[in-house]
This record gives sequence, structure tokens and C-alpha cells, in this order.
Amino acid sequence: MDNTITEYFLSLIKIDSESKNEKAVAEKLEKDLKELGAEVLFDKAHQKTGGNVGNLYAFIPGSINKSPILFCAHMDTVKPGNGIKPQIKDGVITSDGTTILGADDKSGIAEIIWAIKELKESGEKHAPVEILFTISEEIGLLGAKYLDYSMIKSKTGYALDSHKVGHLAIGAPSQNSIKFIVHGKEAHAGAAPEEGINAIRVAAKAISIMPQGRIDSETTCNIGIIKGGKATNIVPNEVIIEAEARSHDKDRLKKITDEMCQAFQKTVEKFKLGEYKAKVEIKVQEEYQAFRLNENAEVVVLAKDAAERSGIEFKTEIGGGGSDVNIFNQHGLQMAVAGTGMDKVHTVDECIKISELETGAKWVLEIIREYSK
Ligand SMILES: [Zn+2]
Repeated sequence: MDNTITEYFLSLIKIDSESKNEKAVAEKLEKDLKELGAEVLFDKAHQKTGGNVGNLYAFIPGSINKSPILFCAHMDTVKPGNGIKPQIKDGVITSDGTTILGADDKSGIAEIIWAIKELKESGEKHAPVEILFTISEEIGLLGAKYLDYSMIKSKTGYALDSHKVGHLAIGAPSQNSIKFIVHGKEAHAGAAPEEGINAIRVAAKAISIMPQGRIDSETTCNIGIIKGGKATNIVPNEVIIEAEARSHDKDRLKKITDEMCQAFQKTVEKFKLGEYKAKVEIKVQEEYQAFRLNENAEVVVLAKDAAERSGIEFKTEIGGGGSDVNIFNQHGLQMAVAGTGMDKVHTVDECIKISELETGAKWVLEIIREYSK
């Protein structure tokens, strides 16, 4: 294994692993974890996600009789994530500007592995540790959704998949994806426009009366994609609109989702042509459920004590997006999302400070020590 966490992190980001192509990095991690004394296995989640490898599960036996503690990170990256050429300047690692860096989430992976390496080298007694490196997080939390939960013995733990080291997300919203397919009536735009119902116009009317953006401190919604029409001389008969709604409150999520749907239902009723009526098909899909941990929960207190002991400023926060942790908590685990130092993620300006990588690994190690007490 490498001599420093920075070298290790660089070796990970140089392995291409856009979602569904995590096999190469998974094989490296399997080898490294085995070197650290872990039992490693893979589940079969990829058979459902269409990827080339399953979720990686590792068990590091402990010398203290206690149930294990879980640390997770995801192996996949967003695009453009192939052929990453890292640059280091003034203690900050970036890409060459043509790709993302992949600190999301390989900084989390590197910090977990490095903490285990230091734990093993110290020879100290510790509780057993479980590690989970998931697949296809970035394309809908698929690895977590199809994870074989029978492998997990921990009741509590952390996903390292957020920004500042020392910050712990203890809540995240629920999200619905909503797809509207508006059906109008096709006609020649020049010869007989009066024989058509313009689906784009129907959609525009519906969108104009729909709630948008920030609804309240806990709720947001957005229309992100609109597709439709074939040519300027055709009155279009179909438009597809894709939207999302999020809320930390289940009832408010339902309310905002209903309002978005009603905007379309009410609007299509106004567009008729003889026997023909405009129609809308609506598909609502729950992507993940909200979670909210108590400030006094074990997982929060452990992270706080560990941070304070290592001189890291600790802060809890409520996230605005979903992660694997939403799915883990839905399955009865008590998990929080820890910061790794990653910054400007999902852009070609993504970066991480070397000092944050080092502090992140220290935080993980101290959490294991606190838990082992
Ligand atoms: Zn991530």
C-alpha cells in the first residue's frame, strides 16, 4: 500500500469508475482490505442495477467483544469521470479541468481505509468494524436500494459522503420524482392549426400555475426536463416534463406533489376539441425517504466526542439532498453522513485539500476508538 493517504487517494481516483463501472476500483479495494486483515465479499446488487460488480462488504474482526460499527462510501463517480489527471497546487488536489476529481466519494473511501491501516499498525484493541463500499449511488442510490442487508451486523455508523470534515449531516429530505406526459392532438400547423391541441401550450399553462422553487424552509420543487415536438410545422401532440419535489416533512411532500399534479389535471380539462380532450399521464416515484436523527443519538455523540478529542470543529447540519444513508435508515440502521473535505463536487472544479484528507482519516480513527471504549 502507499506511504501517505494522498498517494492512496491519487491511486484511487486514477481508476475510472463512473456509475455501473466500479469493478476495477472494487478489485483494488478488495485486495487492499484483505491486506489489512478484512474478510471481503460482494453481493449481487449489480444483477439488478446493470453494473459490472456488486456492493463490496468487508468485516474487520475486533479484539473487543462488541457489535461492529459501520463505515460506508460509494465507489462510483459522476461523469465526466474517466481518465482523471490529478494536479496538486498549494496543498489542494484538483483535476486538470476536463473531468471531475472523484473526491466524491473516493476521499471517503481513502479516509476509511487509512483509518483502518493506522488502527492495525497501532496494534491497539478495537471493536469489530464493517465497511461497505456501494455501487451506483450517483444514479439513484441503486447499490443501497439493492443491497443484501443480511450481510450487515452493525446497528449504527457513518457514510463519508459530504463536505467539510467535522460536519455531520443528521437529517435529509424525502424526494419524489414526477413525470408528466401531456397528450394533445397533432395537426398541420399551417393548413389546419384549428384541428390540433398544442401539447406544448397545455404544458406551459400548467407549469405557469404550478408551485416552483422553495416552498418553505423544509420543502422545494423543480421542473428539470422538458421534451417534445417534432417540427415547427406540426402542432405537437406530446410533451414530457420531468420534475422533482423534496421535503423533510412527509405530509408536506405529499401536499406539494399533489399540487404539482393538480396543476396539470386542472389545465388539461380546459383543452378540448369536439370529442377530443387533452390528457395527462402522471407517474410519481418515491426516490427515498427523509431521516432525522436526534442530537443525542449515539452516532452523533460518538462523532462529536471523536472530533473534539482530535481538535476538529464539530457541527451537525441538515442536508438538502438524498444519499445512501436515506436508504440505510429506511432499513433500520442509524446512520449519519460525515464530511470528507470534498468541495465543488459534480463539477470539473471539484477539489480537496490534502490537510482535509488527513484530518478526515483521523476523525474516522478517533470514532472507532471512541466506539471501542
Ligand atoms: Zn457522493
